[in-house]
Amino acid sequence: MRSISVFGATGSIGEQTFDLVMRAGGPQAYRTVALTAGRNIARLAEMARALRAEIAVCADEADLPALRAALAGSTVEAAAGAGAIADAADRPANWVMSAIVGAAGLVPGLRALRHGSTLALANKESLVTAGPLLMATAASHGARILPVDSEHSAIFQALNAEDIASVERIILTASGGALRDWPMEALAAATVKEALAHPNWAMGQRITIDSASMFNKALEVIETREFFGVEPDQIEVILHPESLIHSMVGFRDGAIMAHMGAPDMRHSIGYALNWPLRAELPVARLDLAQVATLTFRAPDLSRYPALRLCRDVMAVRGLSGAAFNAAKEIALDHFLAGGIGFMDMAGVVEGTLDDLCGQLSLGNALPTLEDVVHTDHLARIRADENAHRIGRNR
Ligand code: NDP
Repeated sequence: MRSISVFGATGSIGEQTFDLVMRAGGPQAYRTVALTAGRNIARLAEMARALRAEIAVCADEADLPALRAALAGSTVEAAAGAGAIADAADRPANWVMSAIVGAAGLVPGLRALRHGSTLALANKESLVTAGPLLMATAASHGARILPVDSEHSAIFQALNAEDIASVERIILTASGGALRDWPMEALAAATVKEALAHPNWAMGQRITIDSASMFNKALEVIETREFFGVEPDQIEVILHPESLIHSMVGFRDGAIMAHMGAPDMRHSIGYALNWPLRAELPVARLDLAQVATLTFRAPDLSRYPALRLCRDVMAVRGLSGAAFNAAKEIALDHFLAGGIGFMDMAGVVEGTLDDLCGQLSLGNALPTLEDVVHTDHLARIRADENAHRIGRNR
């Protein structure tokens, strides 16, 4: 029986992973090693009981008594804290879902790779902050990373084990997010609620706002560069409002392989869960006659400054991804809290990258985990200062 762990079990990706695992037979089909959560203790305990997990871990030590109480009478162990989450990744499992949101997902993913686990990677921040380290860790421990982001799963499937040298370009599709049809001058005043109204995908709160600002797509461009090892100028972004083509690979002979399907993350989660096989999945089937038309348009970089900034990050590489991601996370916190406007997020990130360029050697070729953590820490402080300054001047 295959063993699995799910990091970030209570989130949007975690819930959909749980759904697929339960549909496949739950504890009859998989031995669950570890499930982890942030603050949603009741749901974590419920899932851990249903899957008869070895251990359930929450992020905050203050929640440990509540977790223990919720698991009373079961065989599930309870633990709490960032260290305990990372330790849970030391419990060997064949397949590990990395679905914690943000930079907090990096260390558990690295630890799972060191045990040779197959890492289903939803946490794109891991590749953005520490791509070379993550890929080198996988290679040196014979571990495999399978992409879960729908675009990267699509590229992985379109490549179908072809030689990466035959790839001319990778075309990432983007829905454009909730505000894609707003007039440019209205964007500065967009509220959190408006940015959360995603037209096609139901996702966690943070990634939904990142979709509207295209910071999510910017992360995905960097993720593509790190995961598939292509050059930045081989990566294109195209707006595709229907979100039915999840991404495309263009080959040297001019052929383009496109991956299509309903916008449902259970496809790419299920693909990673069942790889190298394909299993029946509970996703809607496309009726192409009903779809009738697919549309595409070039993204306007003045509307989506994040797409310009990710090019700067890839030019420097090294630690600039860690600075970019941390600054983006802080800018998003400030937007969510009402301290800065929607278009100010890019200003916070750009200002932070400029500040750190003078302070750190961001181009370090193979940064260590300590380098990444240090950069992440400095970038958060600087981004917080920048966001407060921008917020005061609004
Ligand atoms: P959610 O916000 O829905 O869930 C995040 C998960 O991480 C929850 O289990 C949450 O716990 C947990 N968590 C939050 N903070 C911490 C922390 N500091 N330490 C430990 N655990 C924490 O996010 P999503 O599921 O939407 O996204 C997860 C990852 O997958 C992200 O990297 C995202 O970019 C990526 N992704 C998501 C997609 C989607 O459709 N949702 C699509 C493609 C990629 P709790 O809820 O209990 O507080």
